[in-house]
Amino acid sequence: MRPLKKTEIERLLGWYSKNAREFPWRSNPEPYWVWLAEIMSQQTQMATLVPYFHRFLGKFKDVRALARAEEHEVLAAWAGLGYYSRARNVHRAARMVAGALGGKFPTTLDGLLELPGVGPYTAAAIASQCFGVREPVWDGNVVRVTSRFFAREDALSPAFKTQALEALRASMAAGGSGCDPSHFNQALMELGATVCSPKSPSCGRCPLEASCAARAADTVEKYPPPKARKAVVELRCRVHVRVRRSEKNGFEAFLAPRDAERWFAGLWDFPSELGGATKPKLELGALPRSLEPIGEVRHQVTHHKIYLEGLLERTEPRAARATGTVGEGRWLSLDALVADEPPVPLSTTARKMLKLLLREKTDQLAMF
Ligand code: SF4
Repeated sequence: MRPLKKTEIERLLGWYSKNAREFPWRSNPEPYWVWLAEIMSQQTQMATLVPYFHRFLGKFKDVRALARAEEHEVLAAWAGLGYYSRARNVHRAARMVAGALGGKFPTTLDGLLELPGVGPYTAAAIASQCFGVREPVWDGNVVRVTSRFFAREDALSPAFKTQALEALRASMAAGGSGCDPSHFNQALMELGATVCSPKSPSCGRCPLEASCAARAADTVEKYPPPKARKAVVELRCRVHVRVRRSEKNGFEAFLAPRDAERWFAGLWDFPSELGGATKPKLELGALPRSLEPIGEVRHQVTHHKIYLEGLLERTEPRAARATGTVGEGRWLSLDALVADEPPVPLSTTARKMLKLLLREKTDQLAMF
């Protein structure tokens, strides 16, 4: 596979300088910002993560502030971005940078790869954008652009990846001082994200059109070949939405943090019969006066489809007052739980269940 020619690189970089979308981490490519944006964008599109990025920075303005935070604060600030293992890794990495590394991010690929949650793609992205390291990135956008440009049907094979990365590395070197590695990498990704899209790419607007092999053969949509999809696994789970009336808070619900082995680890959720909540003791205090179906909440995590059947459990005020907290679980005000910043970090399924509860059962709650 050949490196890009100097003229192709110039056209690509020229296109990028005119068409790059504006993002805060592009105008201010400091390592803390670029690192956060790269981790956040692993499952979220760049354009949609901007408000989350600002909200996170509003809470933790630099890596030392993030390192000082408690894990539950980091998880709460990550709310809405999903895949919370990334938030935990971000927190661990921040503690490493603020502690052992004296507050400075590593400047080499090997050093960056030592940080929790940083793989080859993220290391190359940070190293090229913040420290001028000439290392190409390899993400879905780059795979699509290169497989079409070179018309390669084996785009998902390790051999193609090795050859393409070698060609891109050689392209950066051949581009010399006129080829900024930060712009080169971002230009290829931006091209994949905004022009060379999975369906109906806008080849007429592409700076590489004149030498694109797939375009010349009119076979653009053949590349890259579709990935084999994993079979969807369905899970069913009963969720106990235990609610009581409280003199102080109006209505309260009982929640507990989920255990470390399951999805949404560390986030707070309703106790469930199946599905890995911490199994707070449901027998606390008086037995529920009734069990009432609330409805169903659906959620998809990777290839798992989860169906959650909500059951409303009402408790007597006197008995509820006597129970207090059990284990790590707590009674929490319903009003506070549905506020913009709940008192504990909530799982997505708990948020969905709360929404369903308030939509379907407001009248019944009023009769408590
Ligand atoms: S010409 Fe079309 S297929 Fe080729 S790289 Fe450009 S947008 Fe992608």
